Amino acid sequence: MEIENLVQNSALIKAREDGGSKARSWKWREMLRFPNISECQDLAATIERDYYSLCVKQPIGKELFRQYCWTRQDLQNCMILLSDLVGLTGTRMMELGLSIVKRFLAPELHRFLSQEPFQQYQNSMYFERFLQWKMLERKPITKKLFRQYRLLGKGGFGEVWACQVRATGMMYACKKLDKGHVKKRRGEKLALNEKELLEEVDSRFVVNLAYAYETKHTLCMVLTMMSGGDLKFHIYNMKQKLDKHRVCFYAAEVCCGLTHLHEKSIAYRDLKPENILLDDKGHIRISDLGLAVKLSEGRLVRGMVGTVGYMAPEVISGDKYGLCVDWWGLGCLIYEMTAAKPPFKGRKENVMRQELEIRITKEQEAYDERFSNEVKNICTALLKKNPKERLGCSGSGGRDVKAHPFFQEINFRMLEAGLIEAPFKPDPRHVYCSDVQDIDEFSTVRGGVHTEKDDQFYQKFNTGSVSLSWQNEMIESGCFKELNVFGPGGKRTPDLVW
Ligand code: ADP
Ligand code: MG
Ligand code: MG
Repeated sequence: MEIENLVQNSALIKAREDGGSKARSWKWREMLRFPNISECQDLAATIERDYYSLCVKQPIGKELFRQYCWTRQDLQNCMILLSDLVGLTGTRMMELGLSIVKRFLAPELHRFLSQEPFQQYQNSMYFERFLQWKMLERKPITKKLFRQYRLLGKGGFGEVWACQVRATGMMYACKKLDKGHVKKRRGEKLALNEKELLEEVDSRFVVNLAYAYETKHTLCMVLTMMSGGDLKFHIYNMKQKLDKHRVCFYAAEVCCGLTHLHEKSIAYRDLKPENILLDDKGHIRISDLGLAVKLSEGRLVRGMVGTVGYMAPEVISGDKYGLCVDWWGLGCLIYEMTAAKPPFKGRKENVMRQELEIRITKEQEAYDERFSNEVKNICTALLKKNPKERLGCSGSGGRDVKAHPFFQEINFRMLEAGLIEAPFKPDPRHVYCSDVQDIDEFSTVRGGVHTEKDDQFYQKFNTGSVSLSWQNEMIESGCFKELNVFGPGGKRTPDLVW
């Protein structure tokens, strides 16, 4: 059994290290062969001609539009200016006080580019190439496109496995929901909800969805690979305990992720260590949007949803609640990272659900000597039973949380721009999860009659590649650069500085 784990770990480590071009299948060029431009006619007729989507947001679209503009003498200055603006981020931009320039000049440039240059671009070979890429992007996705490595974790509806795209060598985590389980437990709405919310969010602090597809027995969500493991593992299974800088850093990044979700009126509702994952550089992302909910106008919902022990008092009492429940969750998380136990339960204590709920709604949590004044102070403020008194719930969109003295050492603007290095970098030679044999086997539920309604649901789920992730994968893996050659001689366009 031990051997089995070693073998699977070393296969995963090897795949991670190879990464990039070495890990591509020998058939990768064939897998990513452009369709003939004549096959792109339908797409050309139906694709929405929206400048921002085609030339600014989509990574490949942006690149090709840029290449086109560089071919025109009259647009070159425009490109130089735009690249200057893009290149200036973080401190340097703030030092120069250029955020104003970026705010006003960039939109002005885009307004100009979105007119005649955008019209002409659509008649150029660069746009034809864009359509070819789009056709590749929209190819149906099947499990044959991936190599599978070891099991990473287990959840309510299925398992999470490490996987790699054969064509590009990109590593991902594949969350597989067992169709039988989903059906038996009527989880269709939840599964679709999770997938659709993941598609909507776009933050460096929340996992990204790259593909959604189905196999005979499973529904699969292919997600950003988080090879540093989850926070539960780091709190309980590592010799090295979390010091106060790490606690503060992770809490700050979670705070940014929550703010992003809240801006989109999404209440996350499932904040706990095992849902916060580390990437290879040591940054965290919030994952598992399975219980998240999009709040409509009234901005309040009801429903006893979450994990026992982490639910906010207003959720337990059956009151209507809103985004505030997540600030309670952040309080629980900071508490648990500091004390290596959740606020209302001993480390290995077995508590009945009812008793736990009474503690959460009635009792005051205890603070020992591990809590400094600031930590104790922010936990107390976030763990206020009454949401009206709770930190973060005054309607400032998380600004009051970020302004708390606990976060004094954090420069949130730099953090959000990705300019701060993580205090702990996972070892690339280590696999941060329980041994494969210690992750309980997931029993599948087979049989069950399969109806037309099931099919409708599977179809809604099975939407294939997610545009932005797919295009980023092509660019990051280097496939874009190698394949995007023009002309009969296969001439590559010169590398353009910008
Ligand atoms: P569930 O909704 O069933 O709780 P999760 O999405 O939380 O499932 O995944 C279960 C576990 O799988 C997580 O606690 C984590 O250990 C692992 N896991 C999930 N997503 C990833 C990922 N993107 N990268 C690495 N491991 C992951
Ligand atoms: Mg989970
Ligand atoms: Mg879930």
